[in-house]
This record gives sequence, structure tokens and C-alpha cells, in this order.
Amino acid sequence: MSSSTSSPSAQPGRPRILTGDTPTGRLHVGHWVGSIENRVRLQDSYECYFLIANVHAFTTRADRPDDIRRDVLEIVKDWLAAGIDPERSTLVLQSEVPAIAELTWFFAMQLPFNRVMRNPTLKHEIETKGLGDKYSFGFPLYAVGQCADILAFRPALVPVGEDQVAHLEMCREVARRFNHVYCDVDPALDDEAHVTAGGLFPIPAPLVGRVGRLVGTDGVHKMSKSLNNAIFLSDSAKEIKKKVGALYTGRQSMTDPGDITSSLFQYVRAFIKDPARVQALEERYSRGDNIGDGHIKAEVTAAIDELLGPMRARRAEYDRPGGDDLVLDILREHAARANAVAEETLYLAKQKMKMDIGRRTLGL
Ligand code: ATP
Ligand code: MG
Repeated sequence: MSSSTSSPSAQPGRPRILTGDTPTGRLHVGHWVGSIENRVRLQDSYECYFLIANVHAFTTRADRPDDIRRDVLEIVKDWLAAGIDPERSTLVLQSEVPAIAELTWFFAMQLPFNRVMRNPTLKHEIETKGLGDKYSFGFPLYAVGQCADILAFRPALVPVGEDQVAHLEMCREVARRFNHVYCDVDPALDDEAHVTAGGLFPIPAPLVGRVGRLVGTDGVHKMSKSLNNAIFLSDSAKEIKKKVGALYTGRQSMTDPGDITSSLFQYVRAFIKDPARVQALEERYSRGDNIGDGHIKAEVTAAIDELLGPMRARRAEYDRPGGDDLVLDILREHAARANAVAEETLYLAKQKMKMDIGRRTLGL
């Protein structure tokens, strides 16, 4: 590893984006509408860093290292398939960036323990993932670690789904507090003015996607890779048809007024591109105007299949023998780019915290 490699995507003046995913399964269409669509779109106007949180995956699956390694490869393939371009964006494997682990320690001291434990996203995850009171010490620590994932890259913007906004709020608090305590920034100052006032960290803003919380095929929980309720980006046409076909609407006949707040209709709005068609379907369905669930499901299936078709084609390149090696090569090369930025942040943070004794160089 070298800390001196600069990012080819680094252009002076371009603001940064940092966001990421945990390798706890494959990516699904909820990720697309919540965050990935924005990432793909913004690659030209921002300097983009996309992080794969493989260390955080151990917080709930410490006994499954093989699964985590497989899911790292799967998710990177999903990214590439979705249109994340390794020439323009930097793909960051969390475990290869030591500055993140070090900043996690520093930031853990900026947050009251109870503030972390009250975080609504964390509480909700403990509930829905059935973690009870047996979760590891590292599990709540991941929320602090996520502040370090983000702030290590000093981004302006973080594209996330709705469930991550509470985590991001904590990260914003950490940035404000660090800037106040160690950089003498007035705590009453507007977020936008922190850097010009001498703060090390910009206060990163969330960018929630077009659908902030896509419901899963169970019709109850958020679509989630660990809850067995997802339509994956890598699903075949047949799998999509089966999953959409099994959505429960409770409707008895084509002339019953239908519920357009159902998961089926969330998918209509999320995936059928033509707004006039969406409106027509909503109107006919809610009136019970001789339109069956089967028809709606077929249109939704076709729309999702149209979205995923090009992704399948791009993914085929990495699903061939040797595809895993291509992915590992990208991650290795990009680790150097990521470290160039994160090491600089760590060095600046240490200076502000009166810890530095000169800048280190990462090496073998
Ligand atoms: P897990 O079940 O392991 O928590 P997940 O499906 O929630 O997995 P994450 O890796 O936690 O996926 O989330 C990655 C990004 O995708 C986050 O920004 C998150 O807010 C967003 N996201 C996840 N699920 C959805 C969804 N159903 N709708 C919209 N955005 C989502
Ligand atoms: Mg999640």
C-alpha cells in the first residue's frame, strides 16, 4: 500500500461523495431506487467514493467469513453491473483503509454512549434482525464506525436510503463537534460555513433517493438483503416474475376497488417509467375498473426486467471464470487511491488533536 497514489477522479474543486453498502447479501432494487441510481448519475459531477463495509459485516456475522468474502465480490459485481464505473469512481474496501479504524476511536470519544444506543436505526435493526440482547459490542460500534467511513473522505454529500438518515445525523454531529472542539469553529455557525471557518470536516448532507424506503415483497418490512424479501439486481426474468407474482394484495376481484398504497403499487410508482401510465393504473385500480392484479403484476415485472436487463449483460463479464480476480484487482488498485485521501484526513485530524509527530507512509 502506498499513501501517495492520487485518485484519477480527483479534480480540484469537485465536491466528494461517499456512501456504501454492507456485504450481508446481494444488492436489490431497493438499493437502486434508494441510493445506487443517484450514485451512477452523479459520477461525473462529484469525486465519488463507494465503500464496501466488510468489517461492519462481522458485527452480525462474525462466524461467517466465507459468506462475507463472497458477498463482497457479489456486491462489487452488482455495483459494476449497475453502472458504477471504476475509471471514474473509487471502490473502497473498508478493511484496507486503516485510517477508518483509527478515526472510529477518535469519534467514539465525541459521542455520548447513550446517544449511540438511542439511535433509531440501530434499535430498529436489533428488532428486525432478531439480535435480542446477544449482539456483539461491535454492533453498536458500527454506527460510530460509519461516521469514520464517511468523514475519512470529507464528503459534501452522502446518497442513502431513508433508514440511514439517522446514522448520518450522528455523523453530522460528530463533524460539528470535532470542528468546534479541535478547530475552534463557533458551534452556532451554519453547517455550510464550517470549512471556511477553519473546520476540518464539511458537514455532509444526505441525499435520499427517489424512493427512500422501498417495501419488501413481504409487504411489511423495508426491502432488505438480510430479510429474505428482496428482488435482487442479479435476479433472472423468471425470478422477478415469481416474486412479483407472489405479492399479496388481498383483493378478491377485478371490480373491487384496490388499495394503491400496497407494495404492488409502490412498485408501480417506483419502476414504471411513464407517469401518465402510472396515473392511469392508479385510477383504474382504485375504482375497480375491470383491471386485475395479474395485469398490474405483469407490467411491474416487465418494468423491473427492463431495468435489470442491461445490468445482467454487464454483470456477465464478471460472472465468467476469472471474474473474481478482475474484481479483486480493482479493489487492490483502488485501496491505494482511497488511502491517499483517508491518510490525509487522519493526518489533519491528528494535527488538530495535537497528536501528530509527522506524516506516516503506509508500506509493506
Ligand atoms: P441489511 O439488511 O444487511 O441491513 P440492507 O438491504 O438494509 O441490508 P444496506 O447495506 O444496509 O442494505 O444499505 C445500503 C444502502 O441502501 C443504504 O443507503 C440504505 O439506506 C439503502 N437501502 C437499503 N434498503 C433500502 C430500501 N428498501 N429502500 C431504499 N433504500 C434502501
Ligand atoms: Mg441496512
